[in-house]
Amino acid sequence: MPHSEIPLSRPDITASEIELVVQTLRSGRLALGPRQDQFESMVATRAGCRYGVAVSSGTAGLHLAMLALGLGPGDEVITTPFSFVASANSILYTGATPVFVDIDPTSLNINADLIEDAITPNTRAILAVEAFGNPLHMDRIASVAARHEIPLIEDCCEALGCAHRGRPAGSFGRVGVFAFYPNKQITTGEGGVIVTDDERLAEECRSLRNHGRPIPSATGASSEQGTWLEHERLGFNYRMDELSAALGVAQMDRLDDIIQMRQSVANMYMTRLMDNSEIILPTIAPESLMTWFVFVVRLTTEYSQEDRDQVIRGLRAHDIGAAPYFPCIHLMPHYEERFGVQAGRFPIAERVSRRTIALPFHNNLTQRDVDLVVQSLELMLQRTSMGRD
Ligand SMILES: *Cc1c(COP(=O)(O)O)cnc(C)c1O
Repeated sequence: MPHSEIPLSRPDITASEIELVVQTLRSGRLALGPRQDQFESMVATRAGCRYGVAVSSGTAGLHLAMLALGLGPGDEVITTPFSFVASANSILYTGATPVFVDIDPTSLNINADLIEDAITPNTRAILAVEAFGNPLHMDRIASVAARHEIPLIEDCCEALGCAHRGRPAGSFGRVGVFAFYPNKQITTGEGGVIVTDDERLAEECRSLRNHGRPIPSATGASSEQGTWLEHERLGFNYRMDELSAALGVAQMDRLDDIIQMRQSVANMYMTRLMDNSEIILPTIAPESLMTWFVFVVRLTTEYSQEDRDQVIRGLRAHDIGAAPYFPCIHLMPHYEERFGVQAGRFPIAERVSRRTIALPFHNNLTQRDVDLVVQSLELMLQRTSMGRD
């Protein structure tokens, strides 16, 4: 096997990104400028929302969204145990308590039918995640939230450009949050954007990201004038700088091409793995549009977690990026210590999480790369099942 590494992910930076970042660097305006405004509005438009608020990361965005909804100690937020840890961590930042609910085995998103049982008089929000960007069931989750008049926070950090029944990711919640870390569909280096139709909530987030400063008038008059040292509330420095925003603008300009590239890589994997009975492929509903954050397969229940880990180690030894996306959040040591949730409490999430493998996935993966990854994967599966028998 040739020894050039196939990484788990890789950002796709072209001359247009470099040009816009350099231009911004030369402009002399490095924070709170026109690129931020432009990037915010591009992301909001894509999500079918009126307002966008750019922040320094997806996690910062989730934190501010929760603060803007007034969440704090004593409040409960219903969420999924099967996600990147930041979704539940952001609940803890506010002092509120995450209440986990098991997932649906098809979408891998929080199971809409189980949410009602978890609602108590202290429930103040539902934080739902499009796991791996799959928007299936988000409409049902949104209707449960609406029926109980509980705000839905949509962690759409993995779902930029995705849609379900024509409704874009980011538009299901009262507020949604996108993330632009380098492994996402598009990147700003570090960054995120909060999207919402709620003007008051957007303004609150704008103030909170900027040390609690009052929001300058809609003319865009820069905040150096008059209000710079006024701090109406305890805020944070969660701003996105102009260089990151410029990178984001250039990436957003290419989003449709990027989505096509990702779809074609996903198709290559699907075709190559379709007939492998030991592998469960992602299920994408015909009424869903996927933009593919990652490509995650699952091993069948004949494989244990130890088998799966061995397969991942074997792939990595062949310089093929692979990862166990995602370990269950409720079983992470500091969650276990704090909430004492035992293994077995969320059987679907645990069963899925024990057997997932994220395979290398980025815009420029070639058919040859995919063939190599699949050959190595099949070899590792063979070795693992032989070792077991
Ligand atoms: C990427 C991601 C985030 C936020 O990530 P940052 O690294 O803070 O930008 C939050 N939730 C989910 C589900 C994610 O995948």
